[in-house]
Amino acid sequence: MKTMLSIMSLFAFAAAAEAQTMPVDGRFEPVELPYAENALEPIISAETVGLHYGKHLSAYAATLNRLIEGTDFADRSLEEIVATSDGAVFNNAGQTLNHNLYFTQFSPDGGGEPQGALRKAIDGAWGSFDRFKKDFVDAGASLFGSGWVWLAADKDGDLTIVKEPNGGNPVARGLTPLLGFDVWEHAYYLDYNNRRADHLNALWRIVDWNEVEKRYDNLNQ
Ligand code: MN
Repeated sequence: MKTMLSIMSLFAFAAAAEAQTMPVDGRFEPVELPYAENALEPIISAETVGLHYGKHLSAYAATLNRLIEGTDFADRSLEEIVATSDGAVFNNAGQTLNHNLYFTQFSPDGGGEPQGALRKAIDGAWGSFDRFKKDFVDAGASLFGSGWVWLAADKDGDLTIVKEPNGGNPVARGLTPLLGFDVWEHAYYLDYNNRRADHLNALWRIVDWNEVEKRYDNLNQ
């Protein structure tokens, strides 16, 4: 039994190591996954995290690094590139930024409700946390094609829900992204098939509100 367990942990370790050490040469790298690949189950399966984080995000970052080498973008921040580029550079920079924000906003200990200044701003804008969640899921479910739904803040801290097609990010509108749900099929199809709204509703159970509150509190720093 002990041998069996160690073989299984070896497999788990090998799978995690493969996904996390996918080589990306250049300036931008996938953010380090702050939990094990299976830590978000059953909301997001290890298989989905393995593909989504290990393959898709690595590919976006590697392509971005290749595209910006020797160009004016080479020494700009990721946010600046997203805000000022278009075409393939924008698509891959947007998706690198989007997924770095995405994978760090979840936690196996997540869920519950936001507190503090962020909660006050949500209640001010939508009247209640439940109403905000409903409007957010409706926005994501009704987005045509692939894209993202974001909670974003302007420089005064006022909140808005933004629907972005493809690799869009609210930084291109001068807003700060706080929370983003990925509605590309690769984010949910293995686990939810075509039930996008079910996936979006389930994600609330793993949102790390401490991280989202931190993004909001950092607005004016
Ligand atoms: Mn994705």
